[in-house]
Amino acid sequence: MHVKIDHPCVQHKLALIRNIETGHKKFRELATEITEFVCYEALKNVNTREVEVQTPIEVATCRMIDHDIVVVPVLRAGIGMLEGILELVPTARVGFVGLYRDEETKLPVAYYERFPPQAKSGTCIIIDPMLATGGSAVATVDILKLWGVSSIKFVGIIGAPEGIENLNKHHPEVMIHLAAVDEKLNERGYILPGLGDAGDRQFGTG
Ligand code: URA
Repeated sequence: MHVKIDHPCVQHKLALIRNIETGHKKFRELATEITEFVCYEALKNVNTREVEVQTPIEVATCRMIDHDIVVVPVLRAGIGMLEGILELVPTARVGFVGLYRDEETKLPVAYYERFPPQAKSGTCIIIDPMLATGGSAVATVDILKLWGVSSIKFVGIIGAPEGIENLNKHHPEVMIHLAAVDEKLNERGYILPGLGDAGDRQFGTG
């Protein structure tokens, strides 16, 4: 299951963020803005509770978020999406997953995991801008499930069909939210046309 945010404002920002001429400062700003749009959609069914609020005129019945949200950036590229989601839900907690790729097995190996206890009862939102092979996303969901997390969503910026299929195959209940689904992967596992290496582009390390 995946949802693509086809809004003109998102597509406009995607055109800018993909551009090789976009420097790291602008890249980070765009990643934040696109994340806000994609997370806005991803959070649309989050639990709320009714509250009575005294306005200057009378009492209004309103709704407030009544659910623990735990954002899980996958290090390092996921960091670039953190500010965007925290703008939307400033009370969200943050967990972290660090993965590296074992050169022999080609499989992701976790070198860092840290989650708040609320992860178990709340909803964990994995953030990683590029859903390429899906290996890191599958491994991150595996880790969260081992921690006892039951409600998990994935939010990214660009996905490849291969990554979506891989995550759907291993964890069909995890809803995937993206701003774009591109054509395919190249032989090095980069998304085509994509935007290059999301970590390098946001941190200026390329
Ligand atoms: N990771 C990236 O940063 N870019 C890709 O195209 C694929 C994986």
